[in-house]
Amino acid sequence: MSSDSKLFVVSAPSGTGKSSLIKDVITRSKAADIPCEFSVSHTTRTPREGDQEGKDYFFVAESEFEELIGNNTFIEYAKVHDNYYGTAEDFVTSKLQEGINVFLEIDVQGFTQIQRTSIPNSSIFVLPPSMLELRNRITRRGLDSNLIIERRMKNALFELSYADQYDFLIVNESFDAAIEELLEIIKDTQRIDSHREEKINLLKELLS
Ligand code: 5GP
Repeated sequence: MSSDSKLFVVSAPSGTGKSSLIKDVITRSKAADIPCEFSVSHTTRTPREGDQEGKDYFFVAESEFEELIGNNTFIEYAKVHDNYYGTAEDFVTSKLQEGINVFLEIDVQGFTQIQRTSIPNSSIFVLPPSMLELRNRITRRGLDSNLIIERRMKNALFELSYADQYDFLIVNESFDAAIEELLEIIKDTQRIDSHREEKINLLKELLS
């Protein structure tokens, strides 16, 4: 493994804006000559409008996913909202060996599995500014039915209950400020999470 490259594990409740944050931070890092790649996961979920095969996910049938599990393809996998999601080990290890930083956008179950591997990583949890804002964002996306929105809100609380185990917490209130904070972390993963206590207090409020 190259000593320069690092694995970044990013989690957040859905609707927090983590996909946009990760895409933007990868583009900006590349522009600053920091090599970064997004790890495209496999999933059994149905593609949504705009989803691109091989770019957003590799969409596979459940039987195929189970076969991939049997072949030890995944460094981690989990069932989220009734669908399987997994990260291919080969992709992650080969990129890291090439000196390229790898971003995983995975749920908290995947995070727990990555912590059990020997791969050095920095973990980042993106917090919504409030539960009301999270609900508004999920509703505004217009992608989900009411039933699914309620399921996502319930799952958000489950995800948030793991947030204090992550190295860094980022509040996505202002997109630009969140990006700046992410860039600082990528440039210096040894730094101490800034204003951690305030963020933990927000986390307690979100969970109350
Ligand atoms: P969505 O279906 O909205 O794209 O993603 C749903 C959830 O699955 C998100 O919390 C996302 O982070 C998580 N997820 C996406 N890919 C993976 C993966 O490879 N492994 C795990 N454990 N979770 C993933």
